[in-house]
Amino acid sequence: MILLNPGPVNLSDRVRNALLSPDLCHREVEFSQLQSRIREQLLQVYDLAGAHWVAVLLTGSGTAAMEAMVSSLVPRNGKLLVIENGVYGERISKIAKIHDINYITLSHPWDAEIDIKGLVKLLDENVDITHLAVVHHETTTGRLNNLVEIAAICQQRGIQILVDAVSSFGAEELNFEAWGITACAATANKCLHGVPGTSFVIVRRDALPSADTIPRTLYLDLATYCQQQDKGGTPFTQSVQTFYALAEALQEMAEAGGWRARHSYYSQLANLVRDGLISMGIKPLLPEGSSSVVLNAYYLPNNFSYEEFHDQLKAQDYVIYSGQGNLAQSIFRVSTMGAITQADMERFVAVVQQIISNSFTDKY
Ligand SMILES: *Cc1c(COP(=O)(O)O)cnc(C)c1O
Repeated sequence: MILLNPGPVNLSDRVRNALLSPDLCHREVEFSQLQSRIREQLLQVYDLAGAHWVAVLLTGSGTAAMEAMVSSLVPRNGKLLVIENGVYGERISKIAKIHDINYITLSHPWDAEIDIKGLVKLLDENVDITHLAVVHHETTTGRLNNLVEIAAICQQRGIQILVDAVSSFGAEELNFEAWGITACAATANKCLHGVPGTSFVIVRRDALPSADTIPRTLYLDLATYCQQQDKGGTPFTQSVQTFYALAEALQEMAEAGGWRARHSYYSQLANLVRDGLISMGIKPLLPEGSSSVVLNAYYLPNNFSYEEFHDQLKAQDYVIYSGQGNLAQSIFRVSTMGAITQADMERFVAVVQQIISNSFTDKY
């Protein structure tokens, strides 16, 4: 089965075999070494120096990392601005609400670009904002949000920027230093091609709360994890097997040329699919140049319900992904992350063509 959903992804044989590594206790030195190695590998993806930056590893899906980042880094006297233009931006607001964080939102329709003028106006009206949270790649629509401009505005004002990079880390540019990013949340099982179960936050060391701060959360407190992981420990049991897989996936990625190589490979596959689908009259949801290389959203072909289209593709071994909310009956999504080949995607385009032609013959 070829997974074209935005994670979990198809695994390479290397990564799958890593799951069969020896049983390990999370209090033994072998685990410490594995954990430390992954923390270094994660910083190396974007060439971050260990003196200023730290990778904190968590057992949980991407949302655990988002929740850990937001609940651990916005202090009780801080105020957060959440930018929403999709499901995941709105999820950050839910997290802020649940943790009783003082926050406001800049909301957009899901298919809209972030309104930079509106952002500046809102910040001018709310000079007490200390943190801004934004999704880098809004997987709801495939839009790559303009972090460069948003980060520049935050830097001018001394606002700390928290990024949900769950579906972009490892495949899109993230210039932590130049953009003045404070932290970003991501996961093992999207662009890094690992197994679901491990997620992480990369954070500036100086942004972690001091030891005497009472955390909002026990399980997701980044400061506690960081303190113990720096000493080779872990506050709670980690998902040992998925750690093995993540270490292998990161090694595989580094050998293949790192995030830049992955970016161009994804881009090649996404263009192949986009050109093929457009030639059959299937229209992309977003204008050209707005999408990430990771995922593209398309309007369903005429006469197809999502379920019908999905089921016919699944019968041919391709799993596409539905739209969420209002988009559920009008779009489908195709993500080209994971261990998939160009031939897989060429065949996908041919299969879509065949399904559309068959439906034409059936109906007329
Ligand atoms: C996948 C994803 C998440 C996390 O989802 P989980 O199901 O918790 O892994 C968060 N943000 C974005 C942008 C995502 O694409």
